[in-house]
Amino acid sequence: NTVITLANRPEGRPKTSDFNFETEKKPSPQEGEVLLETKYVSVDPYMRGRMSDAESYVAPFELGKPIEGGIVAKVVESKKENLTEGDYVSGRLDWKEYQVSDGEGLMKVDPEAAPLSAYLGILGMTGLTAYMGLLEIGKPKEGETLVVSGAAGAVGSVVGQIGKIKGCRVVGIAGSDEKVELLKSKFGFDGGINYKTTEDMGAVIAEACPNGVDIYFDNVAGEISDGVHQHINQFGRIVNCGAIAHYNATSMPMGPRVEPMLIKKSALMQGFIVGNYEEKFPEAVKQLAQWLGEGKLEHSETIVEGFDNIPQAFLDLFDGKNKGKMVVQV
Ligand code: NDP
Repeated sequence: NTVITLANRPEGRPKTSDFNFETEKKPSPQEGEVLLETKYVSVDPYMRGRMSDAESYVAPFELGKPIEGGIVAKVVESKKENLTEGDYVSGRLDWKEYQVSDGEGLMKVDPEAAPLSAYLGILGMTGLTAYMGLLEIGKPKEGETLVVSGAAGAVGSVVGQIGKIKGCRVVGIAGSDEKVELLKSKFGFDGGINYKTTEDMGAVIAEACPNGVDIYFDNVAGEISDGVHQHINQFGRIVNCGAIAHYNATSMPMGPRVEPMLIKKSALMQGFIVGNYEEKFPEAVKQLAQWLGEGKLEHSETIVEGFDNIPQAFLDLFDGKNKGKMVVQV
């Protein structure tokens, strides 16, 4: 049974040598437990934060211990009531091929209702992040302009599509011409900007958003956001969802001061973590599933094959190798 543990706390950009592959005996479930076989593993940018020992909203990974994250697994043996062999569950589990669980925190998922990987993306954490952040903080109104950074990723692609459902004009920012094309052709965005070929983001935003920016859903922070903030409208909302441009930084770069702009425009800037909205998850998943069923949402993912490729898939997030949700199929 292969287990992936954290070998080092990464300095700057994580490397494959920050992970260890270990083997252990395949465990057996005791009374009240199930044996789970890992099927799909979610790799997520927030995990970078748990690899350092800085204080955060979730405890750091422990050195030498398995990495833990979103996983969909199959019940292969059950000594627990209400879970039977052949059931699929999703939850926060260890990066192990097989593991036992007492079922706490696991949610049964239906492979008939949606592809299993969807429970890690559009019907899971990243879909919920898009839904909650946009609707609860962004509060989109028909005719408003929504700008999304990290737009071709798991969260961003869903934010833009929900923005369209709510009647917004949506402009996405992503890291390649191919992704910008995808934003428009697959996800229905009205406009797209490749930040890697853009020198003056402020000027390009002004051109792409002639009526200014009412909502900025930010997955990235840094220089991209400096350019967007300049064009925030009166009573605009800035949703601070992620800051991937800084996750590997060893010191925080100084940006332009945003406060005068926010005051002048009476704009709101608010950070959040998706867990803040847990009580609304059932309603949100129901709505996301309905939109998916009606073809109003496109479900997009990059699937990497093989348990051994989990660390590399995680590292590839920082090179933008994914379109939509990055998932490893075991
Ligand atoms: P994505 O699927 O968007 O993958 C990460 C993407 O970030 C890459 O594909 C890459 O796309 C882009 N990227 C990587 N490095 C940089 C950089 N230096 N500057 C600009 N873009 C970069 O990941 P998720 O959708 O899972 O997460 C998106 C953001 O949302 C992350 O910041 C994450 O931490 C945050 N998040 C926050 C949550 C919350 O509760 N607040 C919950 C879940 C996620 P490209 O090719 O465009 O560069």
